[in-house]
Formats: sequence, C-alpha cells, structure tokens
Amino acid sequence: MLKVELHAHSADDPLDAIPHTTTQLIDRAASLGYRALAVTLHDRQLDPRPYQSYAAERGITLIPGTERTICGKHVLLLNFRRGAEAVTNFDELRALKAREPGLVIAPHPFFPSSTALGRLMHRYADLFDAVEYNAMFTSVINFNTAAERWAREYGAPIVGNGDIHRLRQMGTTYSMIDAEPDADAICDAIRARRVRVVARPVTFRAAAGLIAELMTTHVLPAGFWNEPEESAGFIVPSTPRSGVSAPPPSASAV
Ligand SMILES: [Zn+2]
Ligand SMILES: [Zn+2]
Repeated sequence: MLKVELHAHSADDPLDAIPHTTTQLIDRAASLGYRALAVTLHDRQLDPRPYQSYAAERGITLIPGTERTICGKHVLLLNFRRGAEAVTNFDELRALKAREPGLVIAPHPFFPSSTALGRLMHRYADLFDAVEYNAMFTSVINFNTAAERWAREYGAPIVGNGDIHRLRQMGTTYSMIDAEPDADAICDAIRARRVRVVARPVTFRAAAGLIAELMTTHVLPAGFWNEPEESAGFIVPSTPRSGVSAPPPSASAV
C-alpha cells in the first residue's frame, strides 16, 4: 500500500503565494513516509521531469497534475500527458477524457466556496473518476459529508487529499493506494477502488489559523499553527460496491 498525496501546491503556483518550493514539498512528503505525490498547481501542469530523480532518490513517485479552473470551478486533472491546461469548459473536459487516459478528481466539491463544483457534481457526474475527502475539516465541521453521499450515489471512489498550501498540513488526510509506485498504476488503482482514505480532523484552532493565513497570506507570517497532533486517525473504508462508508462518529474525537 502506498501513502499518496494527490493535491498539493508549491511555490511554482501561478495563483497562490506558497512559501515552500517543490523540492521542500518532496522532502516533507518523504519524511512522512509518502510514496507518491501530485504537485497540482493552479492552472499550470508542472513539468515533473526536473524533479523526478530528486523525488525518486527519496522514494517518491511524482504524478503529473494540475488544479484546473473550469467555468470558475476547481477540478484536479491528474496524469494527462497533454491538454489539461487548455480545458476551459466541461465539454472540453469530456473531449480530453475521450482522447487521454488521465484521472479527473473533484476537489473540495461541496465546500462553501465559489470554486467548489457543488451542483455541477450531479450535472457532470460522469466526468469525475473520484471525489476528494479534503483535509480541512474538524470533528464538528465537515464539508466532506456531502462528498461521501455523492460517492455513494454514483458508486465512485473517494481519495483523501491534503490540498497542501503549507507543509504543516501534510499528514492528517491522505490516500492509501494498492498499486505499484508508478503514476499510471496509481491512477488505475484509484479507478479500480483500490484506495482507502485516512482522515484525521484538524483542530478548530488549526483550521481557523490556516484559513486566516491563506486569506491574508502576503501580510501574515507563516508558522503560527501547531504541527498536527499525533493520533491514530481514522480510516474511511472504501468498498467496491458503495465506494465509502462514513467514518465512525467516535473516531472524530481523536
Ligand atoms: Zn481548490
Ligand atoms: Zn488546491
């Protein structure tokens, strides 16, 4: 089983001001035992080739990807060889999927954000290979519940993603994937639902601090959020038929 992060930003991001470089992101992932990482910059697919050997030396497989804005909504496009950055609407996304074997994931689809897909998740349900369980949730507030419902309704797999904007976000929510350490194999395994989500809520203080920091990232210094607390976390089991069952309520207290 590979510990995998499929949604992470770095200083190469053209939209968000991110304090860590792609190299630092790889270092952090390696130190936490990750085996694969997708650097998903906004509207730009990072060429992974300059980083490939650096990552490989640290046991990390890089998965090409981008967080593309389509009709104002964020969509993760992973492992497309070409064309991902050019997609501007959902018809073009459908055409891209028809000619390329990449993976389409809906990130934070039901979060209260203008970039969340929301109702489009139903209108274009067939376009999404998987839905994200986003790390930004507390034991009380969890916008992933609607994503779990969507996955059940459409029989789609769920992946756990950190949506990393700060290195300290890594390690609370991620995917465990039964695959060889290879981008194609990892994407195939997700399609085949050989993935389970490990998701541990962040503290309210951590969530609030991060949100405040990300909104005013150019004026606030990084580093006033504690490291994620050590705890066992809970596992969102993924089954071939229903996709996912809800995490046990008791586990959210950890
Ligand atoms: Zn996003
Ligand atoms: Zn993102």
